[in-house]
Amino acid sequence: MTTDILAQAREQVLEQGIGLTQEQTLAVLQLPDESIPDILALAHEVRMRWCGPEVEVEGIVSLKTGGCPEDCHFCSQSGLFSSPVRSVWLDIPTLVDAALQTAASGASEFCIVAAVRGPDDRLMKQLREGVKAIKAAVDINVAASLGILTPQQVEDLVDMGIHRYNHNLETSRSFFPKVVTTHTWEERMVTLELVRDSGMEVCCGGIVGLGESDEQRAEFAAQLASLSPHEVPLNFLNPRPGTPFADVPLMEANEALKTIGAFRLALPKTILRFAGGREITLGDLGTREGLLGGINAVIVGNYLTTLGRPVTSDLDLLSELKMPVKALSDSL
Ligand code: SF4
Repeated sequence: MTTDILAQAREQVLEQGIGLTQEQTLAVLQLPDESIPDILALAHEVRMRWCGPEVEVEGIVSLKTGGCPEDCHFCSQSGLFSSPVRSVWLDIPTLVDAALQTAASGASEFCIVAAVRGPDDRLMKQLREGVKAIKAAVDINVAASLGILTPQQVEDLVDMGIHRYNHNLETSRSFFPKVVTTHTWEERMVTLELVRDSGMEVCCGGIVGLGESDEQRAEFAAQLASLSPHEVPLNFLNPRPGTPFADVPLMEANEALKTIGAFRLALPKTILRFAGGREITLGDLGTREGLLGGINAVIVGNYLTTLGRPVTSDLDLLSELKMPVKALSDSL
């Protein structure tokens, strides 16, 4: 079985650049743990062949933290749970300072995030001023993640010069109602289609280890692939106190590694980004294994509500692995 599906993947994904189907992704996810080195080695070859050795580095900053009206059960920024994250707004000088620090770390991407269902006029105005100030101060690509958008807001973001928009599907369509009840998977998809049609790059991923089955994980990979996103951020659940998923057990490291490899084989040409939860799920060793198993982008520094690894330890690891940081000029 191992040889069957991995031999098929070698021919189809590595040689032809055609991602695994849902059924094939499931077959990889269900391989025994002994196959993990082979899965990761193939995923790494695929990443090197179709994306190259460069690693895209991104910093994120939260323009508005906490107090979100939605109920995504993994998220400590929801105002509906007893999570210890309070609602905070960032001012423009702090935003510019964060962009400067991100650029100084060598990152080419700076993503401005807000914990909202979708932006209101106040947020759009603040974003416009913030992006203008950042662009005047530093050379860096500015991305945004502001939830569900109207067609007019999509146009406004294009006008501001936002080059990539993040909106995660979070999980498979079939599992979504167990994770979020205040909006639907389909509503998220409508925003993603608007973004894709606008010409902005689509960044769409999600979070694994929520209690979804292998079948649902494979379904999720296929649904992401159908969007042809430019980037897929992959988060691993880091159960936050006070959220409905506080007691969900951590994903096993082996399962996380298999997921990384399988997602790379389903999405051979996409930027696959290590996002939140990798430290707690995989530790330092896992970060290395992920980068040698299909991952080609990282978020440096802190995440929105949890601490990440120090920037320098990520950059040191990339230099040790001889993976160059993608330069800004390459990504424009
Ligand atoms: S994931 Fe986003 S939309 Fe969901 S509760 Fe958190 S901040 Fe709100």
